[in-house]
Order: sequence, then structure tokens, then C-alpha cells
Amino acid sequence: MVQNSSRIELSQSALNNNMAFLRQRVGPHPLLSMVVKANAYGHGVAQMIPMARRCGVNHFAVASCFEAEEVRDAGGDECGIMIMGILYDEDLRWAIEGGVEFFVFDLPRLRRAAEVAKEVGRPARVHVEVETGGNRTGFAESELPEALNILRRRGEHLDFVGLCTHLAGAETLATKFRIDRQVASFARAKRFVEKRGMRPERYHLASSASALTMPETAAMDQARVGVASYGFFPSNDVYNLHLMRVGKSRDNPLRRVMSWKTDVMHVKSVAKDAFIGYGTSYQAERDMTIAVIPLGYANGYPREMSNKGHVLVRGYKAPITGLVNMNLFMVDVTKIPSVAVGDPVVLVGRQRNNVINISSFSEFSSALNTEFVCRLPSTIPRAIVR
Ligand SMILES: *Cc1c(COP(=O)(O)O)cnc(C)c1O
Repeated sequence: MVQNSSRIELSQSALNNNMAFLRQRVGPHPLLSMVVKANAYGHGVAQMIPMARRCGVNHFAVASCFEAEEVRDAGGDECGIMIMGILYDEDLRWAIEGGVEFFVFDLPRLRRAAEVAKEVGRPARVHVEVETGGNRTGFAESELPEALNILRRRGEHLDFVGLCTHLAGAETLATKFRIDRQVASFARAKRFVEKRGMRPERYHLASSASALTMPETAAMDQARVGVASYGFFPSNDVYNLHLMRVGKSRDNPLRRVMSWKTDVMHVKSVAKDAFIGYGTSYQAERDMTIAVIPLGYANGYPREMSNKGHVLVRGYKAPITGLVNMNLFMVDVTKIPSVAVGDPVVLVGRQRNNVINISSFSEFSSALNTEFVCRLPSTIPRAIVR
């Protein structure tokens, strides 16, 4: 097989570490549902499903039916799969036949699910999402009684798997007042369900941020953890709260699962005052040696890193010189001894004593950590390492 221009390595031990830490934070009871939407946050769903199963994860959350199918194809067929977002009417039958769980946030969908389930001869496994103030999806308080009526009347065809909501920004301390209102609103919905003598299999509202900082949200029956599983704190606020809790000034219990690597494609001497690459954005201040790196924004390397950021070559930091092009960019290796074509280059990860974290990308662009990793093309080969 021919080579791609870069490769991603996924660390099994880092994932084991992160899932063990999350388990310890949420306690023994909740179902840990790993969120693997967006190609497992860009990591590669085909690799992450078997890796997650090896550390005991047996429930996965996705955004669409299409992604649910990817999870199943990656070996998740014996696991619980839950769709949190788009599910087309045309795909309802597929989901119900396969026992795939899905969020429901309007009455027509709930009625339709019961109908299709009746045809299929297998109950639809539904999570009733309630509006608590996020104002994305969720049943309004006024619709909840009718939703529960349908669940009860059509109980033969509808499994009441979950009652859930999603918090609108639990990663930011400044929105805490809003999150607290949502948590209170969810508690009201829960009491309303209980007063009717009904009980879903699982109550859930926690994502990574609240699982890490609000034990009362994590201590429900299920937590939907995405970003933290991959080794990223959802925000500085969440990291700082962690430091306060453990009483340390530095402590990272999470490990980055992903590393991203390539090789030097070409080495060139550039005379003082010459321009490097397109345009005039970089002019050599002295005689320089540059290395050409064989990937660019078409391969997921953010163009915002032009003239900023760096890669690792021979264990040293090599700053980017000029613009990141579609398929290549240049770095300054003048001070790095004997750089040669074929030398391994680290774009994300460790090389000897230096490390490039994903956070170094979001410092330079407004992109969130997750935005950058989600955009890594699925065509980059992924390999599982220890
Ligand atoms: C993406 C998502 C999550 C996971 O969020 P993280 O912050 O990555 O843990 C949980 N719930 C819903 C509804 C989501 O869309």
C-alpha cells in the first residue's frame, strides 16, 4: 500500500488511564457512555471502538444514525449505541431493528417511533430529552405530560431508556448560574416523572465538564463523556477546579491519546533577505536552513498556524516560516544539527524532551481543541500503539 503524508498514533495506555480516572470521578454506579461522534473526535472511530472496549467501555454516544452505523461496523454491535442528534424518519426502522437507542425531543417523533416499533416487532429504545434552558433540543415542560402519556400508552412498543438533558456550557465558570438553573430544572422533570410512577432505566445529564466538576450530575445513572476520554480537559476552568480539588499547582491526570507524525520531505538553504513560500509574509533575517513538511491545510493542519507554532524535529522545536499551504509548509531548522530528508517530524505529541500539545493550536487560533482534532481527515492512517 502506498504511504499517506502523515500518520496518527493512538495510545491504548493513555485511553486506559483516562477511562480509569473518569470512572474514579463518577463513582462505580453510572454507565460510562463514551461519546464518539465526529469520527471519535477525529481520532478514528474504527480504532477507538476496539480500544475503548478493551478498557471496559460498552456504551457509545453519537450525533447521527450515520455515525451509529460506523460504531456498529467498528465492532460496537454488542454494545449500547445512542444517537443524540439527527435521525431521519427513513432511518427509524434501522435504529429500532438494531436496538439502537435515540434521543426524542418532539411528540411526532415519539408517536412515529411507536408505530415503526409496532411494525418491526421490537420496542424502540428512547431517551426523552427535556428542555432545561439550553434551548437546543428537548421537550418543553408543557409537552412532557403528553410525552409521558404516550410512553405509558404505547409501553409495549416504547422502552423508556432515559430521561436526559444537556448542559449549556458547564466548562465555563462564568455560566455557572445558568448551569445551576438547568440542574434544578432537570431535578423538577425527574420528580414529575417519578410522581407519575414512571422510572426510566437511566437519568443522565453529565458530559465531561460536569462529570469532572459537579459530582451531583455525574452521580446519576449515566455520564456522556467525550473530550476527557481523549485526554483533554474541557477548559482551563475545569482544569483549575481540578487543581483546587487536589491541592496542587500542577497535576494532569489525563493523557493525550493522539499523536500526529510525518517526515521531512526536503531540506533547503535560503539566503538572507529571501522570501519563503507564497507572498512576502516571511523574509529570511539571516542565511537559513529550512525543512519542507509534506502536509498542509488540506490534510488538517490549520492554516492559522502560518508563521506561528512549530513542529518537532530531532527533538527540537522548529518554528513555522511562512504560510501553511494546501499540501506543505516550511519550518526553520537552521539551529537544529544535521536535519535530513526522512527525519521523523512530530506535529502533535512528544519527541525526546519536547512536546506539542493540542492546546498549542488553540492558543493561536480561536478554534477549540475539539474543533481542530475533529477536522483531522479520516483518510490519515491511524495505528494503535501501547
Ligand atoms: C458532545 C456531547 C457530549 C460530550 O461532551 P464532552 O464535553 O465532549 O464530554 C455529551 N452530550 C451531548 C448531548 C453532546 O452533544
